[in-house]
Amino acid sequence: MADFIKELAKQVHEILPSEAEITSIEAEGPEIVIYTKNLKLFQDQERLIKGLAGQLKKRFVVRSDASQLMTPEEAEKKIREILPEEAGLETIMFDPEFHQVNIEARKIGLVIGHHGDTLKEIARQTNWVAKPLRMPTMPTTMLKSIRQLLVKEAKTRKALLKKVGKQIYREQTKPTDWIRFTTLGASRQVGRSCFLLETPESKVFLDCGLGTGPGDQRFPYLSSVDFSLDELDAVILSHGHLDHSGMIPYLFEYGYDGPLYCTTPTRDVIALLQKDMLNVFVKNNEVPPYDEKAIKKQILHCITREYGEVTDISPDMRMTFQNAGHILGSALTHLHIGDGAHNLVYTGDLKFGFSELFDPAESRFPRVETLVIESTYGGNVHTTAPRFMAEKQLMDYIINTVEKNNGIVLIPSFAVERAQEAMLVIEAYARQHPEWDIPVYLDGMIKEACAIHTAYPEYLKRNVQRRILHNDSPFSSHIFQSVDPVKREEIVNQGRCVIIAPAGMMNGGPVLDYFKRTCEDPKNQLIFMSFQAEGTLGQKIKGGARKVVLEDKAGAREYEIKMKVNEIPGFSGHADFNQLLGFYKKLSPKPERVLTIHGEEKSCVNLARTLGYKFRVEASAPRNLDAIRLK
Ligand SMILES: [Zn+2]
Ligand SMILES: [Zn+2]
Repeated sequence: MADFIKELAKQVHEILPSEAEITSIEAEGPEIVIYTKNLKLFQDQERLIKGLAGQLKKRFVVRSDASQLMTPEEAEKKIREILPEEAGLETIMFDPEFHQVNIEARKIGLVIGHHGDTLKEIARQTNWVAKPLRMPTMPTTMLKSIRQLLVKEAKTRKALLKKVGKQIYREQTKPTDWIRFTTLGASRQVGRSCFLLETPESKVFLDCGLGTGPGDQRFPYLSSVDFSLDELDAVILSHGHLDHSGMIPYLFEYGYDGPLYCTTPTRDVIALLQKDMLNVFVKNNEVPPYDEKAIKKQILHCITREYGEVTDISPDMRMTFQNAGHILGSALTHLHIGDGAHNLVYTGDLKFGFSELFDPAESRFPRVETLVIESTYGGNVHTTAPRFMAEKQLMDYIINTVEKNNGIVLIPSFAVERAQEAMLVIEAYARQHPEWDIPVYLDGMIKEACAIHTAYPEYLKRNVQRRILHNDSPFSSHIFQSVDPVKREEIVNQGRCVIIAPAGMMNGGPVLDYFKRTCEDPKNQLIFMSFQAEGTLGQKIKGGARKVVLEDKAGAREYEIKMKVNEIPGFSGHADFNQLLGFYKKLSPKPERVLTIHGEEKSCVNLARTLGYKFRVEASAPRNLDAIRLK
């Protein structure tokens, strides 16, 4: 890398004028950082950096040389003078390691200014580069602690990024003669997504999640990997769900010390879900695969990328995320391998249809030779009713149960995505019906998850985004109330309400408490809005069980289910069968090969067969531990 950076530095010096006064050039993760004694010049002439990036095909970041930085006390004063009152400034946090100042505000548009004018003014006057961070419109302890951790551990992070930079820009010693894709999980099954992509030079993991099966079947086949974890160049994470992310902290606990690439919201969502998962392990008297320290370690190793940002991750791999439409921050991963040798798109989980929160998945790429596509609904039978009908159904059930029968509607829901989708549907209805007086109670981590959504409106659909930016967040509507666990009994006794509570499959979480309190009253109704996996309580009840034995403080007790039980399938965050075909039809350009994963055996096989037959493409459904040579 020394050679590469030396060579690059020489070119930078040649391109930039001497008044740029460059003092050093370093690789920090995938970014090339230029330190200068004349930061003002770069603020005044934006084309300098744009020209450099265009010519040298690298991402450049410019920072002031330490000698030029204003003292934090003075700089803070200046920043407060420069920022307009309406920006809603919350905190100013100096990060001396990165010569950067984090500015947390409610309206970051005003911190940035027209064409970035305010940021430039801060840099001109103080020599600190300002990084605007959006304050969520609702309180969140998770996001706050992550942002604080990153500043507190800046020294560790900087050392880490430098090490990663060295790895990425090392000299390629082995030509990209072959490319191999190995399935370590989620093949002909849902859960424990984990794939290894290799060339003679590089090794990359795509996702590393947990499964729902018994014993060892919960974990991906990590023991089959015949190299040590420190030989891994990168772990790329498609989105926050635990079947994709649940085992990543475990990698850090067992010797991996490299980067985790994901979008910024995904970084926050995984921390939220993994922490919750550890609690579930403890509650079930099981030993969790790692502890909270490993989650922290994972956060420090995150290199976050936005959709569309092209990033070098090894000497012969370049990665770009695109919107997957599935949950907050979910991404399709495009990998450009071996300088044009091969291009692979890994979908992770995708949605290619209407949802309240997200645009459908991106389907256009510069090149694709191999497509690895999820198959959750790859079976022919998996087509769902149109979304508007599902939404109408939900509101009909609520009106009937609550308005007409004074009952309670209980919705088991994942804290991320499904809860917010349901909230948006109910909120839209309530806005159109001013007489609406039904309280909607949110329990568990739902409020926290909503808050994280409001910190990243740019990841949401335009109209939700607009409302959050105009201080009219649908998640903050007066109809929603967060519940303190001690109030659960009171809420149920009052009756006449909607309760949304995790976990989505009723295999734990506050929903169980509500279920026990509401299931024996025929006025009430239980509504399933999401997939219920084999072996879960949700699946049992959905399947028709009318008596269930549940653990109470006093021991096991049999509950008779007298409440109505209904399912609304149209809310899934996954593409249904037609949408999967629709995605493939739209996909441009068309790949030479398709691998179907992340579905039950029948679904993976059916999707591969259908795509092969309909579109005349080589499509197959690999089994776990299959290794496929792509080139
Ligand atoms: Zn998912
Ligand atoms: Zn998944």
